[in-house]
Amino acid sequence: MPLKALDIYKLLPKKNCKECGDPTCLTFAMKLAAGKADIDLCPYLDDNAKSVLGATTRPPIKLVKLGVGERSFAVGEEFVLYRHDKTFYHPPGLMFAVADTQSDEEIAAVTARVRDETLTRVGADLKFNGTAIINTSGTVESYTKAVAAVEKTAGLPEVLVSDNPAALAAALVMCGSYRPLICAATPENYREVCGLAKQYGCRLVIRAPTLEGLVQLTKDCTAEGVPNLVLDLGAQTLGDFLYRSTAVRQLAITRAVPDLGYPVYLDATKFEDEDAAIALGIVKYASVIVAKPLPPASAKAMLTLRQNIYTDPQKPIQMNPGLYRVGTPGKDAPVLMTVNFSLTYFTLQGYLESTRIPCYMLIVDTEGLSVLTSVAAGKLNESLVRDAIKKFGVEGEVSHRKLIIPGYAAPLSGRIEEVTGWKVMVGPRDAAEIGEFLVQEWKA
Ligand code: SF4
Repeated sequence: MPLKALDIYKLLPKKNCKECGDPTCLTFAMKLAAGKADIDLCPYLDDNAKSVLGATTRPPIKLVKLGVGERSFAVGEEFVLYRHDKTFYHPPGLMFAVADTQSDEEIAAVTARVRDETLTRVGADLKFNGTAIINTSGTVESYTKAVAAVEKTAGLPEVLVSDNPAALAAALVMCGSYRPLICAATPENYREVCGLAKQYGCRLVIRAPTLEGLVQLTKDCTAEGVPNLVLDLGAQTLGDFLYRSTAVRQLAITRAVPDLGYPVYLDATKFEDEDAAIALGIVKYASVIVAKPLPPASAKAMLTLRQNIYTDPQKPIQMNPGLYRVGTPGKDAPVLMTVNFSLTYFTLQGYLESTRIPCYMLIVDTEGLSVLTSVAAGKLNESLVRDAIKKFGVEGEVSHRKLIIPGYAAPLSGRIEEVTGWKVMVGPRDAAEIGEFLVQEWKA
């Protein structure tokens, strides 16, 4: 049974020293109760408190940070089996594979693509996360050369994939400070590989043919002093991966088998239908996914899928309310009011940009609801529009007093005119028609 915040508080040292990052022991206890903090953040816990708190307050799936610097990312710390129960918090890292049998130029090109390629969608910049360097040759020399080519191009998170501990050791000499993810420790080699992970402070993928074997290996590796693990479930088919990853997530979040409470690794390159494997991994609990560099259409599809799965289903994606410029509008530029649902904003903005008519977009706070929904729910109303005009200083930006509202907000036009004193023009229902509307109807 998880402990309540007050029971946890009784076990804390109550120094209120803030070393855990929280202002008081009580706020730390509340975070622990919510599974949002790690007991290791408090350095003053005695062994008894640690053992009581450890089992009940740790997030059921450990948070594991990969890489260092700006492009580092964290995976794990998930709490639910189904996204609609709460949300999924940490999107999987998508890593492009390079083989040490490729030329330095080819390896550098893939790494540069991971570094630079960006898909901007509903206001977010979506990127791939890093490279996985595969020791296909099996030799130490080729492997270190390939790792050097990656390092020379970008300091991105890396996965070092090799069955040869000597090749891993040589590669780590070069990139150990970037804390790559080492892949993989197995029941046969774990002592040697754990030694490397410990020496360089790396995270470690562990692989075993069965879930029972994986449980034993997590115990063995943590006993060797490597706490940050990622689980390779050893699945041979996509169906097998679906079954195992679902079982691992369920056993971890219910704390039935706490030793399975680690993020999951998926090597999508070994499946014939790689796109299907990546999509399955994104949807079904993989936290680090290695794939061959994807063609543009698949790349966009996977980045979009990941963004969709890892947005909070209970919170629509929102824009900050405000007055936004399209181009460099002057005093006689049109002002178009709409809601702060991101998809509405970006759709309208895209059409406005293509008209090449500089204008203002007045974005009002409907808590992320679309025009139709916010009108029906009464969230979009005349007072909201009046307050937004005042708050964002629209009167000082333009010399006219005309406001274009969305077609679906037409029922509000009279009331908006009354409370604002602005003349309201009802725009089209479909944003695609806004260009034609402005050309035909707009006069300052
Ligand atoms: Fe309290 Fe420990 Fe946090 Fe200090 S570090 S405020 S003693 S919980």
